Amino acid sequence: LGGSVVRALQKMSNSTIIDENVLNECLKEITRALLQADVQFKLVRDLQMNIKNIVNLDHLAPGHNKRNIIQQAIFNELCKMLDTGEPSFMPKKGKTSVVMFVGLQGSGKTTTCTKYALYHQKKGWKPALVCADTFRAGAFDQLKQNATKAKIPFYGSYVESDPVQIAVEGVDRFKKENRDLIIVDTSGRHKQEAALFEEMRQVSEATNPDLAIFVMDGSIGQAAYDQAQAFKQSVAIGAVILTKMDGHAKGGGALSAVAATKSPLTFIGTGEHMHEFEVFNVQSFVKRLIGMGDLSGFIDKIQEVEYQQPEHMLELLDGNFTLRMMYDLYLLKGPMGQALSLLPGLGAKLMRKGQEKESQAKIKQLDNTDPKLIKDSRIMRIARGSGRKVAEVMEMLNELNEYKQRAKILSQMKEVKNLKKGGMSSL
Ligand code: GDP
Ligand code: MG
Repeated sequence: LGGSVVRALQKMSNSTIIDENVLNECLKEITRALLQADVQFKLVRDLQMNIKNIVNLDHLAPGHNKRNIIQQAIFNELCKMLDTGEPSFMPKKGKTSVVMFVGLQGSGKTTTCTKYALYHQKKGWKPALVCADTFRAGAFDQLKQNATKAKIPFYGSYVESDPVQIAVEGVDRFKKENRDLIIVDTSGRHKQEAALFEEMRQVSEATNPDLAIFVMDGSIGQAAYDQAQAFKQSVAIGAVILTKMDGHAKGGGALSAVAATKSPLTFIGTGEHMHEFEVFNVQSFVKRLIGMGDLSGFIDKIQEVEYQQPEHMLELLDGNFTLRMMYDLYLLKGPMGQALSLLPGLGAKLMRKGQEKESQAKIKQLDNTDPKLIKDSRIMRIARGSGRKVAEVMEMLNELNEYKQRAKILSQMKEVKNLKKGGMSSL
């Protein structure tokens, strides 16, 4: 998707006069790109109308960068669509909260319950897990395994078949034990059938949760809106978590889920492992969705790179991303670091303010995990030279792989290929 939007904007930057035709053409291209990303048709149409209303080309003073204004308008509108304006319920430490998870079978509820519990446990909560899924064979074993691995107390039964009774027993038990975050995992079905919703309603009524979280597979495409709405109509959903955002998910599901439930997206699941769980950040998500780094800023900066660090330039255009570039990027050092931070996906990484704690947790995890890397004298050198901890440099290395993949994608972009053929002047 990023590519198409970038292309649309590139097209606009190539025409000196941005008139209504160009705006329309740009909107058409962006519309197509958003639909390809599985954004619901109605939402795309609304977005298109809003942008037309906001961007009044006639009233823009000459000299304004109209391309930037349109780009900003698209960005703002998408952010607005994802921001319900109301923060989700926040459990408080030391005060009992009950959080119930709902969603179709296979959406990732059980996995996400543990991720959610672990996330809070690391931050000082005392979570506990209750398995109220008596529908699927092996459901309790799965939760038990996850919980044991994460060292989180759990409750469930192999014999009791009434989910309501287990939920109530579990919640009561953990209230007595002064757990402050009691998480109830429920069953799902393959389809949005009446029995599932009835069971959900009963469990909800009996346990009176402070928050019901709707878990949805992020890769289900256009079906997202209807599914989310069906759940919303049966249970008072207060937040959404999208899973499997590491796979083929194209992101449109996020907009649909928020629009249908009118609830904020709070976390995303990015893998099967327990730590593959991220706080959802609207702005970085939208940037990723439309592939919108600050492209014009990038082009300015990249010209500086060519001048000051030509070796970096060649490497990047060939799809290589080196440790040195990573280092510059991380510290926002040098024109390369600054240029890369303006690119789609990369900038977002750096903008994760307020997540320093998570980063620290990551660093701690990495501390002893890869001794092979610790021996690398290059890392030591970089750590010494930058006054950073080795563990921090190792975290960068972890991200390096990700950037390497992005650099490959970048090198295959038409714009970059042209750049390689024609040199900087082709920009
Ligand atoms: P439930 O039926 O809703 O409880 O779903 P599960 O938690 O059992 O998950 C179903 C499958 O999805 C399992 O194989 C999980 O490992 C997998 N899964 C869950 N979350 C994610 C995620 O964020 N990314 C990936 N790739 N797989 C996930
Ligand atoms: Mg389950």
